[in-house]
Amino acid sequence: MKHQDLLSGFIRLHVLHHASEEGLYGQWMIDELAQHGYRVSPGTLYPMLHSMERKGYLVSRTERAGRTQRRVYRATPYGIEALALAQEKILELFHEVVSKSARS
Ligand SMILES: [Zn+2]
Repeated sequence: MKHQDLLSGFIRLHVLHHASEEGLYGQWMIDELAQHGYRVSPGTLYPMLHSMERKGYLVSRTERAGRTQRRVYRATPYGIEALALAQEKILELFHEVVSKSARS
């Protein structure tokens, strides 16, 4: 994906948002991100999920879906705390970057 380094924080927060609601698995998240205009490959998303789990933001477990198994990720209390902090930062940044430039 173009500008991936710059946008990867948004992707992580998007992951954390869904993980804090109903939980997610890799392919679902790839499709969800695609709907929002982020083209993220499994080779990018899976290492991202693993690293977020290693850092304590997510916890995963294997669930059976028909014949296949998938790894479902949910946010930990630490992840939910980080998301709440990020929500303030997103709002603050939005006001700074988007609203002001829209006004001028
Ligand atoms: Zn979403």
